[in-house]
Amino acid sequence: MSRLFEYSAGEVIERVRSRELSVEEYIESIIERIRDKDELINAYITVTAEEALETARKIDERIRDGKDAGRLVGVALAVKDNICTKGIKTTCASRMLENFYPPYDASVIERVKEEGAVIIGKTNMDEFAMGSSTETSYFGVTRNPWDLARVPGGSSGGSAAALVMNEATLALGSDTGGSIRCPASYCSIVGLKPTYGLVSRYGLIAYANSLEQIGPMARTVYDCALLLTVISGFDPKDSTSANLPCKDYTTYLRDDVEDIRVSVPKEFLGEGVDDKVKDCMWRAIEKLEELGASYREVSIPSLKYALPSYYIIAMSEASSNLARYDGIRYGFKTSESEGDWSKVYSRNRRLGFGLEVRRRIMLGTYALSAGYYNRYYIKALKIRALIRREFEETFKESDVMMGPTMPVPPFKIGERINDPLSLYMCDLLTVPANLTGYPAISVPCGFIGDLPVGLQIIGKPFDEGTILRVAYTFERNTDFHKRRPCIF
Ligand code: GLN
Repeated sequence: MSRLFEYSAGEVIERVRSRELSVEEYIESIIERIRDKDELINAYITVTAEEALETARKIDERIRDGKDAGRLVGVALAVKDNICTKGIKTTCASRMLENFYPPYDASVIERVKEEGAVIIGKTNMDEFAMGSSTETSYFGVTRNPWDLARVPGGSSGGSAAALVMNEATLALGSDTGGSIRCPASYCSIVGLKPTYGLVSRYGLIAYANSLEQIGPMARTVYDCALLLTVISGFDPKDSTSANLPCKDYTTYLRDDVEDIRVSVPKEFLGEGVDDKVKDCMWRAIEKLEELGASYREVSIPSLKYALPSYYIIAMSEASSNLARYDGIRYGFKTSESEGDWSKVYSRNRRLGFGLEVRRRIMLGTYALSAGYYNRYYIKALKIRALIRREFEETFKESDVMMGPTMPVPPFKIGERINDPLSLYMCDLLTVPANLTGYPAISVPCGFIGDLPVGLQIIGKPFDEGTILRVAYTFERNTDFHKRRPCIF
């Protein structure tokens, strides 16, 4: 069998341009790979094999005619199932949207298509992106390729698992409180949450607008930078989109951290963070020191309130965003029509949403209700402002901040799902970047046995170039990204 699915995005593009590789053959090999392996891990909700092959043939034709086919020419891209794709089912892994076919493309989808990417399918996730394990999907759990009894992280678990199994070459995820970085860490790939406002959210089905960004996921830092270059930039359709000049992020990738000042908040290494995970992180920092970076430990006291403040804000926004799904305007509808409108709404929402989504809608509604608004929601916003201020201070004397991406290694399927608080605790180290809007990347930095550990690098606003450069240097000087799961 051909192993064309093993190419990186950079390799695919180069070979397609030089006419060494036919996009059709390469896409066939990816589809074959999905057929072969996805049964084991369940990374995809929808595979768009026919459409992908058709697009591939068209691209081959363009190339044969000597036309330019874009910066992502031919590359197989997996898309998280909360990003709208015209005519392709977009479920948010929920029964509520089981049969939703968006009439339009998200702005990021328009961009990747223009640049010649081939959408290979829609990936599994936690329902409405609420979770850190991909266990709350209506379409069943995704399994971690490194240990099938464990979770792949979430909520973009399908995208990460597909990448590490070479069932896609690039992937898109979304990150509200860690949903790109967590599965990147748990599956040993690269995932980046952009600065708030860098990537358009138009067409991303909202969970918590003020926190989330769409971002790139890939097997290498170079591929990640390439995809970010294509999806970033101003979009008039998103009122929170930043109007800044476009950058080519691949130009930042040099093997050099000489001038980099790293800060490590001691709050990232406190209670709840596994010792072996800490060891991996320290070894990574030592490596960077060897390569010329300097580091210091700092304290960001308000970080201890980050998690509760995140959950109040995220749930409040969710309760408002998800109000539209009532089975009448949108979404799942039962066949029973008995009762007045409120009964009909309740029935549709009770059966259309899973347990975790309903829990969050209820808690969010509570936090926003008249008597509690000040006590919860407003207080959470104040903490958010405080964390942002302390971040600003810390970054005056450092270029990047580092810590583990996840406090614990990938856990067993079923281990935490019935204890929501223990699941929420997993987001301890990822939510600060969302509360502040700062960019952050996770890169493979070690293993505990066969279980991957990710290093998180947080940067200054709109300074994705620097975190990519540091990540690239680390990758160039280590081998963690080359290791593959034994079911590979
Ligand atoms: N685990 C976090 C939550 O459940 C983050 C999810 C996300 O980033 N979409 O809210």
